[in-house]
Amino acid sequence: MSRVYNFSAGPAVLPEEVLQQAADEMLDYQGSGMSVMEMSHRSKVYDSIIKTAEADLRELMNIPDNYKVLFLQGGASQQFAMIPMNLMKNKKAAYIVTGQWAKKAFQEAQIYGEAVKVASSEDETFSYIPDCSDLDIPEDADYVYICENNTIYGTKYRTLPNAKGHILVADVSSCFLSEPVDVSKYGIIYGGVQKNIGPAGVVIVIIREDLITEDTLPGTPTMLKYKTHADAESLYNTPPAYGIYICGKVFQWIKNMGGLEVMKQRNEEKAKILYDFLDESKMFQGTVRKEDRSLMNVPFVTGDKDLDAKFVKEAEAAGFVNLKGHRTVGGMRASIYNAMPREGVEKLVAFMKKFEEEN
Ligand code: PMP
Repeated sequence: MSRVYNFSAGPAVLPEEVLQQAADEMLDYQGSGMSVMEMSHRSKVYDSIIKTAEADLRELMNIPDNYKVLFLQGGASQQFAMIPMNLMKNKKAAYIVTGQWAKKAFQEAQIYGEAVKVASSEDETFSYIPDCSDLDIPEDADYVYICENNTIYGTKYRTLPNAKGHILVADVSSCFLSEPVDVSKYGIIYGGVQKNIGPAGVVIVIIREDLITEDTLPGTPTMLKYKTHADAESLYNTPPAYGIYICGKVFQWIKNMGGLEVMKQRNEEKAKILYDFLDESKMFQGTVRKEDRSLMNVPFVTGDKDLDAKFVKEAEAAGFVNLKGHRTVGGMRASIYNAMPREGVEKLVAFMKKFEEEN
């Protein structure tokens, strides 16, 4: 068996220990005589899997009792619609547009009401996070929406926007469980799990209980009401059962590593290795304003398209895969999620140094 260093933005690298455990349990999950894939989601065995997953997530993120944890489907993209359908009582919401995913959420919200763009960094290819300390947020906005870590552009909010008393809704798909967060500052904090937590197909929504109501926009389908899933504890219909099981294993892996403080420290150390090199390199440059750099997604360029392509090709041959940047930024992007070992980043930097010497 040979595993590569996988720098994919998502679906992405998962902890090897988790994959090994899942392999060991594939045919017979803990004496049940079947795979978790084959099991009823209403069985006792599965009930314990989903309940343990939720309890571990609550412990890791220190989720207050007045928040529900929902395991849903439809990708993070489905939340772009579910959020306005459930929260837009005044048919108005404020959006901060810091990348493609925030923009998609903003555009989707326009279907349901008035989505107001209160800040944007599109003028400079989303390479920074705008100053959000004193935004002009409409009084009657139902919520303020952000994408906290911008997967494509490699930016991250260092401080949350001043939402001026409005409900804050955050997409944390690409920074989920990468560092501690204060859940109580958000009305909704959500993300697809396929970057830092598990296989594609699961979306985790952490939502303050008072935001879960019957009072949704007219025509909201049953499956798109938070209340449906909250009342049924994520078992209204068949959930993405196997994916949730893997998420649960990743929660345990993070707990065993020491929790989110330790994750943060590890992630800061890993990112520093790469950013320090980018800052001193004569060939490679980071594309993001320094103070807004993400710990998870690191875009960089040489400034020469042909050289970028050569680098990506040679890196792949050397076992560093999925380094090609998003088409809107060009160049390269190294996604270094929780499960990317420090050694992977060190070896990548060594490879970059050698490439720089040779080219
Ligand atoms: N938000 C962010 C920050 C993302 O990175 C992505 C996917 N890469 C999405 C939303 C969309 O997620 P999905 O494909 O699960 O709909």
